[in-house]
Amino acid sequence: MLSASASLLNVKVVILDSGDHAPAKQIVAPTAPHLTHVDGSFADAPKIQELAKKVDVLTMEIEHVNVDTLLQIEKDSSLSKLEIHPSPSTVQVIQDKYRQKEHLSSNKLPVSEFLAVENTEESVKAATEKLGLPLMLKSRTLAYDGRGNYAIREVSQIPDAIAQLGGRPLYAEKWVPFTKEIAVMVVRTTSGEVASYPVVETVHKDNICHLVFAPLRSRDPTLSDRARSVAENAVKTFTGAGVFGVEMFLMDNDQIYINEIAPRPHNSGHYTIEACETSQYENHLRAILSLPLGSTALKVPSTVMLNLIGHSSSMSEIEKTRDVALTIPGTSVHLYGKAECRKGRKMGHITLVAESDTQLRERLRPILLSLPNSTE
Ligand code: ADP
Ligand code: MG
Repeated sequence: MLSASASLLNVKVVILDSGDHAPAKQIVAPTAPHLTHVDGSFADAPKIQELAKKVDVLTMEIEHVNVDTLLQIEKDSSLSKLEIHPSPSTVQVIQDKYRQKEHLSSNKLPVSEFLAVENTEESVKAATEKLGLPLMLKSRTLAYDGRGNYAIREVSQIPDAIAQLGGRPLYAEKWVPFTKEIAVMVVRTTSGEVASYPVVETVHKDNICHLVFAPLRSRDPTLSDRARSVAENAVKTFTGAGVFGVEMFLMDNDQIYINEIAPRPHNSGHYTIEACETSQYENHLRAILSLPLGSTALKVPSTVMLNLIGHSSSMSEIEKTRDVALTIPGTSVHLYGKAECRKGRKMGHITLVAESDTQLRERLRPILLSLPNSTE
């Protein structure tokens, strides 16, 4: 999606990812012999070095990169003209969820209580005594789509929780009894100015983002401005340019806590492609290339994004939903061209736009009904 935006601005893109048919490589063909894509992992130091030598600006769409290599490249005098966005130090703090929480908390941003724990039953038990049950035990690193979280409801689950999170460094969070999950995309320029997108409501199923509604509806007229300002203030504390996804919890009393921040385009901002004046991808490019930012305003009254999650190794369930969506006005289907479908894997998404919330719900209903195990 970033590559698609780049091609419309004549920005040449070189991708580092494994395989010749990685989704982004299907969008942009190599444009010159020295601008061929790199085949390898974003965790592999020599491959990152190879990419760095080819480009003027280096950015990432995932925070689980080899950040030590990025920090070395930043100091390498032979690459002094290269810009890296967001900055490696930002990625370093964010990719360790415990350090991220410490950073937010020391900047007086609202986060719920959290504690460092050792990978031992005694240490986790001590955390349950301090923070209560249920307790959210989280992997500090490499977590996504709920893989890395274990909700401990009883002390007897502690050994299983440690086993499931498999030897990774851990920390514990107090359970947040939120009423809604909300998110705001924030774009930060190279000179440190920020602009935010509308507040969205995110609905998760099995720990994976399922639906994203925009704009957020609330009886509290101040909520949207408060959430945007929490998100903007959080992003201001980091260095480097680009878009950031700020996930937040909304409490019964309308208090807001930050859950986590992604230093990149984010699933909760996919709707911006069809529903905003400028998509998160285009604004990410504008920000990292020091071009003027585009308006973040919604251009439709109501929108929803539905993730297309693999149900099995077959694409047939996803194709069924795609075919239903294609019959509905206001629908845009995005399939990512991933080589293999797997249960729980994000294979694409659908964005719907409408003139009103009522029309949106009418349009969404048949799509939800087409999903496997629909409970609609
Ligand atoms: P991921 O990297 O998988 O997105 P998150 O930390 O965002 O990990 O957690 C995934 C989901 O788990 C959240 O969207 C939320 O639904 C739930 N969750 C996370 N932390 C807590 C918490 N402290 N209390 C209650 N629910 C939580
Ligand atoms: Mg999350």
